[in-house]
Amino acid sequence: MNENDKKAFETQLRTFVGRPIGPPMTGRDPVNEPMIRQWCDAMGETHPAYLDAKAAKGTIHGEIKAPPTMLQAWVMEGWEMHEGYDEPKNEQHRLHKFLADHGYTGVLGTNTEENYTRYLRLGEQVTAETVIAEISDEKATGRGIGYFITTRTSFVNEKGEDIGSMSFRVLRYKPPAEAASAGGGAGKDGKSAAVAAKPTRIKPPMGQDNAWWWEKVAKENVLPIQRCTGCGKLRHPPRPMCDACGSQKWDSIAASGRGTIHTFTVIHYPQFPGYDYPIVSIIVDLEEGERMASTLVECKPEQVAIGMPVELLIHTDEDGFKIPFFRPAK
Ligand SMILES: [Zn+2]
Repeated sequence: MNENDKKAFETQLRTFVGRPIGPPMTGRDPVNEPMIRQWCDAMGETHPAYLDAKAAKGTIHGEIKAPPTMLQAWVMEGWEMHEGYDEPKNEQHRLHKFLADHGYTGVLGTNTEENYTRYLRLGEQVTAETVIAEISDEKATGRGIGYFITTRTSFVNEKGEDIGSMSFRVLRYKPPAEAASAGGGAGKDGKSAAVAAKPTRIKPPMGQDNAWWWEKVAKENVLPIQRCTGCGKLRHPPRPMCDACGSQKWDSIAASGRGTIHTFTVIHYPQFPGYDYPIVSIIVDLEEGERMASTLVECKPEQVAIGMPVELLIHTDEDGFKIPFFRPAK
């Protein structure tokens, strides 16, 4: 796109902001017990206020109520409504098609926020109205350049009473390969061709109380543990004051690097750029008595076990960033 095309594109893009995606949508069924039961089955929810009329009588609700987190389920369309964006059926589809037609073909849901005003009673009829609330400026992200789109949905019952709301944000982006062939959306100055380089790990927040810890890892290739110089107590993660004696004076020791796995979890999703999946995320009981979160490497996920002895390995990312990992002890 040249500069004029880009301007025209941006102008048209902004016209979507504030538009309802379509007429308000009323759920196909009123709030009903069978749907509540099936939803609870799927979620593993067993609270009697949702499932057992007799038991519900004895609760603060006095009758069966719908789980608040079911809110969106009451207005779900059928599958036949989700035929993609080739023939847009509403403004949201039109917006997505508009972006896709301009090279922003990738979609990533980034976050959602729901507010529940109150519990729903059986027989209430839910209606939702969704508005395209915000479209960000063009951003360079780990996925490629793109726009964050926020939609806001208001939920009301048949009397128009507010029962909740939801906001949902997606990133619509140009995958780097397509950005290159489509000229990256660059103006003549090339400024907006900010396709990110190969993404790297998200850096930990570093503040006054913990930056020293990361610096020591990087410079000395050790795993530091903070030590109170008032009473000698070790503490991790780093913090300004000793919880035993109240002293704010401290130094640090280098951990031996030996420990055992206190617990672990294997992360498959969501997958962020810059990480290798699956990630074996562990809590290590260090030999010195402190506990820390880390990552286990050089070990298949199915071979991890609680109590397994591990040893320190200072890992260096491609961008030079150093981070303490562990591997099975030799
Ligand atoms: Zn102390």
